[in-house]
Amino acid sequence: MEVAMESQDRPLVAGIGISNPDRVIFSRPKRTKLDLARYYEVMAERILPELADRPVSLLRLPEGLEGERFFQRHAGKGFPKAIRPVVIEESSGSAADYMTIRDVAGLIGAVQMGTVEFHPWAARRDRLDRPERLVFDLDPDEGLGFAAVRKAASDIRERLERFDLQSYPMLSGGKGVHVIVPLKRTASWDTVKLFAQLLATLAAEEAPERYVATMSKSARKGKIFIDWLRNERGATAIAPFSVRARPGAPVAVPVAWEELGKIRRADAFGIRSAEKRGWGDLAVPEPQNLSERLIAKLATGG
Ligand code: ATP
Ligand code: MN
Repeated sequence: MEVAMESQDRPLVAGIGISNPDRVIFSRPKRTKLDLARYYEVMAERILPELADRPVSLLRLPEGLEGERFFQRHAGKGFPKAIRPVVIEESSGSAADYMTIRDVAGLIGAVQMGTVEFHPWAARRDRLDRPERLVFDLDPDEGLGFAAVRKAASDIRERLERFDLQSYPMLSGGKGVHVIVPLKRTASWDTVKLFAQLLATLAAEEAPERYVATMSKSARKGKIFIDWLRNERGATAIAPFSVRARPGAPVAVPVAWEELGKIRRADAFGIRSAEKRGWGDLAVPEPQNLSERLIAKLATGG
């Protein structure tokens, strides 16, 4: 009897009962917990390859946008089995339990636990020492328009092309754009991070009126911070097609370089418009080799 009641109160999405389905997670436009679960079910095939076998952090807002938020690296009490444990050795040498999601049950199970955002690592569990992407997270200072972000993204793209590295842009769903280079699992974190740091630093040296490559908030006035620190072991970035816990329920969406010029804001897509999008809308470059040789080339201006 009680079970029947439960299933009546809990509509099933991908076989998982959603409690409090009508809870308003975003008020404008109104998006309930059930809306989110259905969005992630529809998008599962587009999102899961980005999560598969990577440790993932979850941003949970069980009470919705106005309530408390928890950025979780480790599974909590009552997390479903479909959110699988990954044991990772920390730099201190001790082992810690991380999470990974590899199927729709894990995805929807996470939403049932109040997850809004999915933040995977750049490496898979079988080779955690080998990142599969290089990312520049372009963060505009408050007041800078999106045109400046677009211009910075194209600039980073061109700088990467000098090293034969092909990239694609992703609207973060917040304020900025991530410029992403898919990598073969050949380079270490150190190599990838050093390359990213050098490229960002040189860009900031050549155009100090437009960019900064250091974290300091005060140096950022009116500029774009080229955040290269996302390229560290354990660093995460928002997953493509993840909803963001920001007003309006925007979505992080990868786009084609050609269409970026026409896009007016980093939060241009909501869950309805993101559902119409896929990987086929852009040319995702093949994973590339980032050899140590490139660092020497970059450092010597060649
Ligand atoms: P925007 O374009 O607005 O900057 P973003 O996704 O680049 O959007 P944030 O949401 O601020 O920016 O996240 C910055 C990075 O820090 C992300 O890569 C994310 O994985 C990570 N992150 C976010 N929240 C936390 C947190 N509470 N603790 C640790 N890392 C976090
Ligand atoms: Mn950012």
